[in-house]
Amino acid sequence: MGFIKNFMRKGFKISSPYVMDNTPVYHVPEEEGTLGRALDSGVVTVNEDVTDIEQEKEIVSHEKVHVDQMKRGDLSYTDENIIWKGKKYSRKYNKKSPWEKEAYSKEIKAKK
Ligand SMILES: [Zn+2]
Repeated sequence: MGFIKNFMRKGFKISSPYVMDNTPVYHVPEEEGTLGRALDSGVVTVNEDVTDIEQEKEIVSHEKVHVDQMKRGDLSYTDENIIWKGKKYSRKYNKKSPWEKEAYSKEIKAKK
């Protein structure tokens, strides 16, 4: 549970997650611009500022694609890099990367 240690170190209080299809989802304080994260522990985090349920569904479904990518061995990350199918990439967010393209194509779009 490396991620819990991380949050503790940063002094975040964590409340219990809710569980969606076996994926625990936590609401956490986040930097602006980051809506969700998929951790390699199989956990999804959502920015606690997100209050719209449709937006939340979209974020969680998107991050769950990344969890799946990690579970099947295509995606992993270090402090500096993202590794996709054995190749290193920058951790800088890139909407056109193969892992993001897949996540955007499979996410459940919010009703607007
Ligand atoms: Zn993504």
